[in-house]
Amino acid sequence: SSADSAAAEHIFKSRFPDISINNNLPLHSYLFENLPLNSERPCLISGASGRIYSYAETHLICRKTAAGLSKLGLKKGDVVMILLQNCPEFVFSFVGASMIGAVSTTANPFYTSQEIFKQLKAADAKLVVTQSQFVDKLRYSEEGLEIGVDLKVVTVDEPPEKCLAFSALSEADEEEAPEVEIDSDDPVALPFSSGTTGLPKGVVLTHRSLSTSVAQQVDGNNPNLHLRADDVSLCVLPLFHIFSLNSVLMAGLRAGCAVLIMPKFEIGTLLELIQKHRVSVAMVVPPLVLALAKNPNVDHYDLTSIRIVMSGAAPLGKDLEDALRARLPHAVLGQGYGMTEAGPVLSMCPAFAKEPFPTKPGSCGVVVRNAEMKVVDPDTGASLGYNQPGEICIRGQQIMKEYLNDPTATTAIIDPHGWLHTGDIGYVDEDHEVFIVDRVAPAELEALLVNHPSIVDAAVVPQKDEVAGEVPVAFVVRSNVSDEQVTEEGVKEYIAKQVVFYKKLHKVYFVNVIPKSPSGKILRRELRSRLTSPLPSH
Ligand code: AMP
Repeated sequence: SSADSAAAEHIFKSRFPDISINNNLPLHSYLFENLPLNSERPCLISGASGRIYSYAETHLICRKTAAGLSKLGLKKGDVVMILLQNCPEFVFSFVGASMIGAVSTTANPFYTSQEIFKQLKAADAKLVVTQSQFVDKLRYSEEGLEIGVDLKVVTVDEPPEKCLAFSALSEADEEEAPEVEIDSDDPVALPFSSGTTGLPKGVVLTHRSLSTSVAQQVDGNNPNLHLRADDVSLCVLPLFHIFSLNSVLMAGLRAGCAVLIMPKFEIGTLLELIQKHRVSVAMVVPPLVLALAKNPNVDHYDLTSIRIVMSGAAPLGKDLEDALRARLPHAVLGQGYGMTEAGPVLSMCPAFAKEPFPTKPGSCGVVVRNAEMKVVDPDTGASLGYNQPGEICIRGQQIMKEYLNDPTATTAIIDPHGWLHTGDIGYVDEDHEVFIVDRVAPAELEALLVNHPSIVDAAVVPQKDEVAGEVPVAFVVRSNVSDEQVTEEGVKEYIAKQVVFYKKLHKVYFVNVIPKSPSGKILRRELRSRLTSPLPSH
C-alpha cells in the first residue's frame, strides 16, 4: 500500500536543527532587514574602481533604480535581462527590479548572440541592462528586434546609439518608485538552465524560494554557513550564475558582510585584492581552486585573512583539495552542492557552521536545514538508505516554482509529492554527508549535434578534467559513415560557433551507433567507460 511505501522512505535531514524562517517578506526586504544595524558598514566594494558603497548607499541606489525602471515603463511581473560582468550596477538592477515586483533574467554576456537572443525571447524581456561591448549581441539580425523600440537597452558605460545611460535608472527620484504589493510566491529571478534534459529553460525562482535558500545557509543561532558582519566575501564568480548571486551576494547582504565585486577572474588582480581588502570568505569553483593551489604568485601575497573557502558548481578532486589545504592551512575548506532549479543550494559543508562538524574529503556537506533529501533508484524509484548511490532528490520551500511556460518539463523534474529530481547520482553516508558520483549529460549539445546535416545521432558525456572538473566530449554517428568530409575539427567548430566557451566539445569520436537501452535511453555509463579504456580508432 502507499502507507507502506511512505514508511519505507529514507529521508535525510540536516545535522543542524531546523530554524524558523520568515520567508513571507519580499526578497529585497528580507535581504536588507538589518539595514538599520548595518547602514554605515561597507556593503559593496568595486574591485575595478575601488569605490565602496555602504549599506545605506547601496539601498538608496537600489530604490532609485527601482524608480528609474518604473519610469521606463517596467511594471510588476515584467522581465529585465541583466547581461553584465560583475559590477555594482548588477546588484542595483537586480534589487531595484525586485522592489517593483519585476523579474531579473540573468545571462552570461559571453554567450553567443544566438544564445542570448533565445533567452531574451523566451523570457520576454522588456529591458536589458548591459555593457556597450555586448549591445551588438542584442541585434540578432533575422528576428529584427529594434533597440530603443521593441527593447530598451541601458548600458553601465557610455551608451551607444539608441541606448540609455545607467544614470537614467540610478539617478531617478527614489520617492517616485511605485508601491507594489508583492506576494512571496511571485517570481523575482529567472536564470536559465539546461537542467538534466533538453534545452535551456527559464527557472522561476520566487521571493520565497530565494529568501528560504539564503536563510537555510546563514540564518539562525548556529548557521550552516557562519558569515559575520566583519567578513569580506569575494565575488569573482559570475553573478549571472545563481551560485554567486545567492551564496555570495544575497547571503553576504543578509549577513551584513562587505561583498568585493570583481568583473572577471585574473589571478594577479585577484591576489592583490584579497590581500588589500583582507578577504575572509572565498566562494570558488574548481578551476579557481587550481589557480590558488598551484599558481607560483600565490606565495608573494598574504592570504591569511581567508577563513572560509567554499568550492561549488562542479566536483572538486581530492588532490586539488589537499593542495589548497596545504597552501591555506588556516582556512576551512569545503564544498557546497547546488543546482539552479533547487534554489540552488542542496547541501553545504558542516565545517562552515558556527558550531562545526568535521567533514570528509570529497563530501558536498550536509543537506541544508528546513529541507528534505532522498536518494532514489533511477530505475525503480525506490528510496535508498545510507551509502547506496541513486538519484538525489530534494524537497523544501527553496526549490523553483516551475520552468517558465513549460508544464511538461516541470512535471518531469518535480514529482507530485514535491520532490525535485536533480539528475545527479550520489549517496548519503552515515554522517549525513552527501557525495556526488555522476552527472547526467548535456542534452543541449546533443540537440545541436543532430541538427548538423551530416550527423544522424550523437551523445555527449562528461570527461574528467583537472581544471574544469568536467568537460564535454561527443560520440557522433555520421549519416554516411565513411564521410571523410565531416572531421573532428569541423564538428568542434560547428558547436563552438553556437555555444559559450565552457560548453565547447573537447573531443569528438566517430562511432557507428550510439548504444541505447530498449527504452531508447543513451547508455552513458558505457560511453564513459570507453573514455577510460583504450579507444577503438573508429
Ligand atoms: P547549475 O544549475 O549550473 O548550478 O548546475 C548544477 C549541477 O552542477 C548539479 O546538478 C551538479 O551536477 C553540479 N554540481 C554543483 N555543485 C557540485 C559539487 N559540489 N560537486 C559536484 N557537482 C556539483
